[in-house]
Amino acid sequence: MTTCFDIGGSFIRHGQLHEDGTVTEIGRVPTPGKDWQAFVDAVAEGAGSGSDPISISLAGAYDERTGYADVANIPCLHKRLVVQDLNSALRRPVVVTNDANAFALAEAIDGTGKGKSVVFGIILGSGVGGGLAVNGELVNGFGGMAGEWGHGPIMDPTAGGQLSGIEHYACGCGQVGCIDAMCSARGMERIHFSLHGTKLSSKEITQAWRASDPAGGETVEAYSTLLSRALSVLVNTLGPDVIPASGGLSNDSRLLDLVDRKTRSLVLANYPTPLVVKGQFSENGGLHGAGIVARKSFPEAAE
Ligand SMILES: [Zn+2]
Repeated sequence: MTTCFDIGGSFIRHGQLHEDGTVTEIGRVPTPGKDWQAFVDAVAEGAGSGSDPISISLAGAYDERTGYADVANIPCLHKRLVVQDLNSALRRPVVVTNDANAFALAEAIDGTGKGKSVVFGIILGSGVGGGLAVNGELVNGFGGMAGEWGHGPIMDPTAGGQLSGIEHYACGCGQVGCIDAMCSARGMERIHFSLHGTKLSSKEITQAWRASDPAGGETVEAYSTLLSRALSVLVNTLGPDVIPASGGLSNDSRLLDLVDRKTRSLVLANYPTPLVVKGQFSENGGLHGAGIVARKSFPEAAE
């Protein structure tokens, strides 16, 4: 029996992979962030007895070439040879996929991108991330970073793109003016503070916008403009058939609809139907994607 894991900064969720490719969540425990042995124990507990393989969707970058993970919010995994170390600690085969990639793969194989050739899955939540699948296969890219459109200082003041009254925020990656810093939920909150001097959560801002509050409206207008401009470059570069979205902000269908319409108005190709849509696996893309990776990596996985 193959166990799939969705490992985030807050929780480790685990589920069982079934023969039909679905993954049922069995349980979740808080992620031991700093203690490697506690982390290993939590994964071992979820996997149960035996030596069957496990497939992990991880909230961080993983470079297949070097084997190193880059997981700033789970310190005990950061800069660790995560597959090798888990493999020797658990004595079972281990495969690891970045969570945004797992989501993109889930959408490409079984979700909104099923049967389509280019699927660019995006995460709009506490951070901005993404994954690219072409013809049903993940594109990991050099350093395992393909699809990470949230970073790169494209909104740096020295590179242009400044909207009136909006500052260029520092990003966790060390750059200034990354899409992640501007278009995550926190980015929306920073934009609102820059424009109106009040601290509201992204949820309160979008609620105010829906209630026709002018300040909320101005923030959402600026946010969606920044986000759709960034997406338009990606659309022209990748030619996606669909952009399924996941993450907290993707739950707001009106916001997603606004971003979709703005993005389609800025690109070269004519998309007659929605391009940026809510992902079918926006809630469990990690587990489902880990299941797909398990079936590919271990053909006997679901038996
Ligand atoms: Zn960044």
